[in-house]
Amino acid sequence: MLPSTITIDGPVASGKSTIGYLLAQRLGYLYLDTGAMYRAVTWVALSRGVPVEGEAAITALAEELHIDITLPTVDDGRQYTVLTDGEDVTWDIRRPEVDANVSVISAYPGVRRAMVAHQRRIAAAGRVIMVGRDIGSVVLPDADLKLYLDATPQERARRRWLERQARGESVTYEEVLAMMLRRDEIDSHRAVSPLRVPDGAVVIDTTGLTVEEVLARVLEHIGAADP
Ligand code: C5P
Repeated sequence: MLPSTITIDGPVASGKSTIGYLLAQRLGYLYLDTGAMYRAVTWVALSRGVPVEGEAAITALAEELHIDITLPTVDDGRQYTVLTDGEDVTWDIRRPEVDANVSVISAYPGVRRAMVAHQRRIAAAGRVIMVGRDIGSVVLPDADLKLYLDATPQERARRRWLERQARGESVTYEEVLAMMLRRDEIDSHRAVSPLRVPDGAVVIDTTGLTVEEVLARVLEHIGAADP
């Protein structure tokens, strides 16, 4: 029997989203990247001029905002479409200003409460792969399989830097590394649901491994490897 509920946690650019997406396609499961939800709240706050430091206003926004994550509605390389109150914000949530502010907003307990409730509703039907920071530890602690992906900071920064260069952004490797370390630091040390290896998780160090190699290891754990 294949695991029905699978969680993948890990730091920035550890390979979670790539592996989660490919695995979901392979198994025919629903794929949910929970980082997109925190990014959506952050983008809407920035675009409406709501100050990031205003915890009460940001929490109210997170509670009332209607976030939908659907199958891709446009064939432009996206893994999924993100709608906030019906508006397509799929690429906006990847902007550098969202990267710079999302960890502050995602540390607010009320914001997390709203997102976690939403995530649990989506997972209730099973056959789901949910990716994030606290999925195996807090959101779905009874998941059938928990994975935790990691890699050295240098390798993770290199991956993210290459991705951003491919999108035509002018950013240096050092800038990407510094921003990534700052985000990891906040995500790992916040009071509510910090990033950590969930109890019972399978830890995979993806440093030096190709996507195919990581996927092969994950499939072995699932019992779905090619014969
Ligand atoms: O995975 P991604 O880099 O898109 O996540 C963006 C941010 O959202 C993370 O740096 C973290 O602050 C927050 N996040 C979280 N809990 C999750 C997923 C993401 O706090 N389950």
